[in-house]
Amino acid sequence: MKIARFSREGAIAFGILDEDEREWVVLAGDPMYAGFDTTGERVKVTDAPLLAPVLPRSKVIGIGRNYREHAEEMGADAPEAPLMFLKPNTAVIGPNDAIVLPPQSERVEHEGELVVVIGRIGKDIAEESALDYVFGYTVGNDVTARDLQRADGQWARGKGFDTFCPLGPVIETEFDAASATIETRVNGEQRQSGRISDLIHGIPHLIAYASSVWTLLPGDVIMTGTPAGVGPLVAGDRVEVTVSGIGTLSNPVRAKA
Ligand code: MN
Repeated sequence: MKIARFSREGAIAFGILDEDEREWVVLAGDPMYAGFDTTGERVKVTDAPLLAPVLPRSKVIGIGRNYREHAEEMGADAPEAPLMFLKPNTAVIGPNDAIVLPPQSERVEHEGELVVVIGRIGKDIAEESALDYVFGYTVGNDVTARDLQRADGQWARGKGFDTFCPLGPVIETEFDAASATIETRVNGEQRQSGRISDLIHGIPHLIAYASSVWTLLPGDVIMTGTPAGVGPLVAGDRVEVTVSGIGTLSNPVRAKA
């Protein structure tokens, strides 16, 4: 089931994609909290500008160097335990919102990633039951000011600018991580391509590990890491990240006005 959050007549609504993929079946509330009761209304997909499918309540958890070939291109070892960082929820934007290049950086890069959306409160979650805490999966771009990330020695600034966390287009609740692929394109040209099964630390381990540190809340998200092929974004680019079975997250890039 594909769930979208969209704007409609000046308000925010949630919908599930109908079988013919042409209409959203409008939900009575946020399905994460209010279930899947419908209002009986339908909205054409073409009439509903999509918003980020989830607004993380408390945190966006990022995972560094979680694909071996990406660790190699960064000139670093793949970490033995998940290398976690946080992005602020103010960085989140939705499909087609612009990634704004900050004047402080001369090197902003894309990182296409699979994103896990947490649906239940959890702490010290066992790996065996970790998937019970997943509401669904979406696509993300862990946009990074690489020069500032390196200069600071920690990542709060380099990965935390407003607009540096595009999420969308939808949340897929029935995602098969074992067979899924991920691809990032800039202006139509492939930059990154990988298989989700190549994650060094898999999804249950990431959930268990993160929850050993932080209480996970519904709406928190875990960006699972990026495959090899990260590269620069410049004003005027359009960056697209596709995860098979979920969809394509597309964002333009512009300079700060
Ligand atoms: Mn990343």
